[in-house]
Amino acid sequence: MASNITVEDNITVGDLAEKLSLPVTKLITELMKLGVMVTVNERIDFDTAQIIVGELGLDISLEKQSSEEKVVEAKPEHDKNAKTAPRPPVVAVMGHVDHGKTTLLDSIRGIESVKGEAGGITQHLAAYQEEHAGRLITFIDTPGHEAFAALREHGAQLVDLVIIVVAADDGVKPQTLEAIRFAKKSGVKIIVAINKIDKADADINRVKQQLTEAGLALEGWGGEIVAVEVSAKNKVGIDKLLDMVLLLADLEQLEGYVDVPATGLVIESHMETGRGPVAELLVEGGILKQGNFIVAGETYARIKSLETTDGKSVKEASPSTPVRVTGFKALPSFGERFSLSGNEKAARTKAVSESSSRQTGRGQSDINSSELLRLINRSNQISEFNIVVKADVQGSLVSVIDSLKSLNTDEVAIKTVSSGIGTINENDIHLAHGSGAVVYGFNVTVPRNIEQLARRYDTPVRLYKVIYELIDDVKEELNSLLQPIIVEKELGRLKVKGIFKITKAMTICGGEVTKGVIKISSFGRITRGKEQINGEVEITNLKRGPQDVTEVKEGEMCGLSLNSDSKLDLQLEDQIDVFTRETQTRTLY
Ligand code: GDP
Repeated sequence: MASNITVEDNITVGDLAEKLSLPVTKLITELMKLGVMVTVNERIDFDTAQIIVGELGLDISLEKQSSEEKVVEAKPEHDKNAKTAPRPPVVAVMGHVDHGKTTLLDSIRGIESVKGEAGGITQHLAAYQEEHAGRLITFIDTPGHEAFAALREHGAQLVDLVIIVVAADDGVKPQTLEAIRFAKKSGVKIIVAINKIDKADADINRVKQQLTEAGLALEGWGGEIVAVEVSAKNKVGIDKLLDMVLLLADLEQLEGYVDVPATGLVIESHMETGRGPVAELLVEGGILKQGNFIVAGETYARIKSLETTDGKSVKEASPSTPVRVTGFKALPSFGERFSLSGNEKAARTKAVSESSSRQTGRGQSDINSSELLRLINRSNQISEFNIVVKADVQGSLVSVIDSLKSLNTDEVAIKTVSSGIGTINENDIHLAHGSGAVVYGFNVTVPRNIEQLARRYDTPVRLYKVIYELIDDVKEELNSLLQPIIVEKELGRLKVKGIFKITKAMTICGGEVTKGVIKISSFGRITRGKEQINGEVEITNLKRGPQDVTEVKEGEMCGLSLNSDSKLDLQLEDQIDVFTRETQTRTLY
């Protein structure tokens, strides 16, 4: 059985060897074999470590040091007695594609769906708040489950409650199961929304049965998870669903710290003409105010404008509130944690020092996994699929890239030549053209002139609005890179009845087909009694009587020419087992 070892990202070669109970020289030699020169103190990242373990053929499975261990508490140590106040629940909606997530969120917001409008002008809101029964609920709208997974990677627990949407006419589907797994793993509260109950073929009981089978213990089915029947389209059951959300929130007694320095997460970021970097933040603790200095990773801001996510200016934001801020010097990354600084100098110093420590970290990680993969590819002939990825916002980009990473196997690997946020531009096409890559756009557009450029270069540009469709397309590409396998298919058997001529490379003989058929251009192996004689032969000519034929059936006599690598040792009564070779394509996923 494989043993488990926990490894932090950016581990030294020496430390990794120790964890693997290997002499460090062995590890270094292995890397050298792959063309990578390292010393004992050089750092490698987690992915690289994993690749090396695979290359060494060790029965050890590496686990990344749990991100939870790295989570920075919204409440610092010295603030144990800090004041708390109730906060709104943070809710995410998940479920299978087309089961009605967008429609549900839209009907909660009381607006008509703008999905599918021409020109892709739908504004992506990472989060927003709605009032219900005089109380606020924060909804997180993400491009897919991966965004949450990505946030967890960054050490964040963003959501208190997940609404899993299942269409009553379609039932539990793969992404429903994924949502269930995700919600369970995160330890968040779950509410099920059985949607599309207005449809004639809606079968609520079947959905409940399937959910129970999938491990969700529903109320009335031996558990406590509430399932609310809704029609997102006809706005039926929405109030009840929101009542349940508030009820669960009350049970959880959700509270946030109000008199600590503000902290939270960057949940989206993009550039806006005239406004520069615009970030959506979710406040976790403290009160964020206009004019505050905040640091998020390697960048900082003096908050110039503080708005609700639908654009209303506000003076401050309390825990669980999503806000849109301007004033960042550079685009902060999705999933980055932000914290308050006293003044501009302190903020700048913190951002600069973070940047240089990350640079060092990056610098120390002398081999990165993609470089290593490239080297291994060369030796193992892994087929690479090059891609350029563009997405509308950082969150989507991280989701897409993280999901694609998980598709890599020993035989095929995705190489992200370049990735970024925004419209597909000339540079993307040039990069893709230069590396034979496909450009994938998620929720972005391609200007007409760029489309023309891509056509001129014969560079494929593919646009998606649904993350799973993008992933499926890449899977198909990877499948097509797989080397086909060759399988032998037994055709028939022949008994040698006459030998006419044997030269070094060719034999002419005659015989009777005792089983199946014999075909021209097929192959044969000769056996005498139980023993195989000679190597393989190819049937290059087949005759029935004087006539050239392509096949001869069981019970018939024939003459045949056999090609072989060396002179055949053929005798009367030998048997030739005849087979063909067929190439079969394979699929990985
Ligand atoms: P998503 O992919 O989960 O976001 O699904 P959408 O919200 O885009 O919905 C997919 C399709 O189902 C759209 O055509 C919706 O109009 C339709 N739909 C969503 N909710 C309902 C519902 O309650 N009843 C019916 N009849 N159709 C619905």
